[in-house]
Amino acid sequence: MPDSAILWFRQDLRLADHPALMAVAERPILPVYILEDGPWAPGGAARWWLHHSLAALGRDLAERGAPLVLLRGDPRRLLPDLAAAVGATEIHAGRRTEPAGRRCDAETHAALQAAGTRLVLHRTALLHEPHQVRTGSGTPYGVYTPFSRNVFGLLEGLAPALPAPARLSTAPGAPAGLSLDELALLPRLPEPDWAAGFAAYWQPGEAGAAARLAAFLEHGLAGYADRRNDPGAAWGTSGLSPHLHLGEISPRQVWHAAQARGGKGLETFLKELLWREFSHHLLWHRPEMPEAPLRVEFAAFPWQPDAALLRAWQRGRTGYPIIDAGMRQLWQTGWMHNRVRMITASFLVKHLLQPWQQGEAWFWDTLVDADLAANSASWQWVAGCGADAAPYFRIFNPVLQGEKFDPTGAYVRRWCPELAPLPDRFIHKPHEAPEIVLRGAGLQLGRDYPAPVVELAAGRARALAAFAALKGDA
Ligand code: FAD
Repeated sequence: MPDSAILWFRQDLRLADHPALMAVAERPILPVYILEDGPWAPGGAARWWLHHSLAALGRDLAERGAPLVLLRGDPRRLLPDLAAAVGATEIHAGRRTEPAGRRCDAETHAALQAAGTRLVLHRTALLHEPHQVRTGSGTPYGVYTPFSRNVFGLLEGLAPALPAPARLSTAPGAPAGLSLDELALLPRLPEPDWAAGFAAYWQPGEAGAAARLAAFLEHGLAGYADRRNDPGAAWGTSGLSPHLHLGEISPRQVWHAAQARGGKGLETFLKELLWREFSHHLLWHRPEMPEAPLRVEFAAFPWQPDAALLRAWQRGRTGYPIIDAGMRQLWQTGWMHNRVRMITASFLVKHLLQPWQQGEAWFWDTLVDADLAANSASWQWVAGCGADAAPYFRIFNPVLQGEKFDPTGAYVRRWCPELAPLPDRFIHKPHEAPEIVLRGAGLQLGRDYPAPVVELAAGRARALAAFAALKGDA
């Protein structure tokens, strides 16, 4: 009888293409998920997703003969006892890039070693190894384009995805663990019920991820390059981000499936997958990224924190329809289109001068795909303080962005239905509509829809002045 092993699931909640699972699939195993506390524990929307994803994984594992054990607490303390209980000599898991997770893994490794058990880490979440991919001069990458060129080259020899094991066997002595309800992941009063509308949009779990990938390949990939910036388009983008975040599907599965489909749109789509790799590369090498600007001079940026402005932005009540539509889509579905994420983020940090960390924290709590690497890298990119960032002085005008990317106003009308009767000409700028037009649409600004919280030219000038002060030009 071979030694038992523990399979520690983290952000790889699937059975197919799981190198850590395949490494132990012939042995009696104890599959375990540990809900960890600490910095950047999953936010409200992500917890909803996690609940349903664990339910799906639990069903799939039980069907194959090795039920999932759920625990909550500190792996450094829990795992040595668990290994002793099932006589496991090895614990296999996927490598993670989050600083707290990496610290925890190093300390768990040390705690296990003392008891003669090994923690073996595999690549389950990424296409590249952040600690191995380097520039020609041996440094980590800080710019996307050369990074993606290098990784594209490496991926020419990408191994095929692994199948899911057909049968598994349980290690004797496995504890019962907690029930899913005992993890208390779903919202409870007095928390807001994030989840009310989510189930209409999403199917968490490996089967849901596979179904979404198949539908995107069928309906979205060919038009991806043309439609990925249209927030109102059906299948303009894949919607795979929450599935990829929790590893219900591997990037390798997505990469191979997209390549097999081929055609127009493919290269642009693969490049987006590499943005995900790039963010994790950055987080690995710059673990301060979630909290501190990568460009250190931005630590002195003269933000003007204002609770009322922040609240108006969070609730989709700024008076700028594309911003409000995006923030309401986020609240109601746990997801926001990438183009609109960029516009809403820019508006918060530039026109409203609110610290990017405030926006990052709100997204962290409300996105079902909240991912420490992608979220912090993107917020820093928009704020102009990140690696390879958009220059601070490039300030998106939310009216012009709305008119360019949502020309018919379909997206705004969907998420801000009170604006629906406005003619297209004013759908992105109700504050410029003549009184007679507003009256015809049954709208009174300030009553049915907010008046703008900031005047765009003034907001822009204030942002540029703040930036100039930072550079010492003012
Ligand atoms: P698609 O266009 O179908 O792209 C396919 C996949 O590529 C995505 O699922 C995602 O995994 C990856 N990807 C695409 N664009 C990016 C990007 N710019 N950076 C990193 N990965 C990317 N993405 C997250 O997964 N989690 C976050 O917490 C997150 N926060 C963001 C915050 C801001 C302010 C901004 C501007 C972007 C953020 N993004 C985040 C990146 C991007 O908006 C989402 O990945 C994308 O909208 C997900 O939709 P999709 O799956 O339909 O993407």
